[in-house]
Amino acid sequence: MRASVLFEPRTPLKVEEVELEAPREGEVLVRMAASGVCHSCLHAADGSWTGVPMPIVLGDEGAGVVEAVGPGVRTLAPGDHVILSWAPTCGRCHYCVIGRPNLCERRLPGRGLLPDGTTRMSLGGKPVHHYGHVATYASRTVVHESSAIAIDARMPLDRAALIGCSVMTGVGAVINTAAVPAGASMAVFGAGGIGLNVVQGGAMVAAHPIIAVDVKTAKLDQARALGATHAIDGSRDDAVAEIRRITTRGADFTFVAVGDARAVGQAAEALAPGGTCIVIGVPAAGQMVPLDVRPLVTGERVIRGSSYGSARTREDLPRMVALYQAGKLRIDELITKRYGLEDANEAFRALAAGELARGVIVF
Ligand SMILES: [Zn+2]
Ligand SMILES: [Zn+2]
Repeated sequence: MRASVLFEPRTPLKVEEVELEAPREGEVLVRMAASGVCHSCLHAADGSWTGVPMPIVLGDEGAGVVEAVGPGVRTLAPGDHVILSWAPTCGRCHYCVIGRPNLCERRLPGRGLLPDGTTRMSLGGKPVHHYGHVATYASRTVVHESSAIAIDARMPLDRAALIGCSVMTGVGAVINTAAVPAGASMAVFGAGGIGLNVVQGGAMVAAHPIIAVDVKTAKLDQARALGATHAIDGSRDDAVAEIRRITTRGADFTFVAVGDARAVGQAAEALAPGGTCIVIGVPAAGQMVPLDVRPLVTGERVIRGSSYGSARTREDLPRMVALYQAGKLRIDELITKRYGLEDANEAFRALAAGELARGVIVF
């Protein structure tokens, strides 16, 4: 198969012919149709996330068609259309059993391996790692059965691809993690691929007002188009003061959709008493946040992380597809540009420059 391979941080990805083994027990082979270009992959490529094993095929957001299944696979068959999930689940550990499979204890996060601790890809006999358990910048990929979620075959796969990470993470943070009620006020720091989905999640549950904070006018315009009622240019205005002015007592919910510890401090400060700050963006390792503890205690404020939108993938990914098909979830508007596999470096450049809501690699 053809894949875009990262050999070292801060070097361009290279398209290579990578050997792909057949799926083993409990695995499936997926022919990729489309892959979203995610910020987390950019962090791996630009070196801001350390410890990423290399060489590696990046890509944690994609969709395709099952071509073959390994022994023991029961939930999928060749021809099934699937969204790939970077969070495989064992179905048996403490967190899977209590209904929080996004926290599954059997995953091997950050090690670039399938759940059995090995890889199916190699180049000249040397192992190549799987980013996020799925490695979607490849014409074909082998994933664990629980990383491939069957969906309605009528769903366009280039749109379905985005559900696998950015849509689920952003919308899920609102409807699953925070369970924002209608009429609650919310503010979103960062209007990139995730933040725009937090905004549209707020619109879906009728939050009000929905305040977007970013430093780029184009992103604030996109946030307005997806349901933000107010937009704050953080490079010019004091975001905390503006949120307090708009909401009068602070926001009931704030979301941090950038990997920036400073934004966590601002999002906590902008909370109303009883409010909850949901942190989604993952900063570079070691970033700390100074926290004014007193208002946290006296106002019973909460700071909480959200990983993968608290997804129960088998339930939630098809739910997102159904919402798209019903016209209640917008994905077409998120896709700024489509690329070929050989254009992954250009897609990263455009993402880093803030030119993309979402870029999509189409195979
Ligand atoms: Zn991602
Ligand atoms: Zn588990």
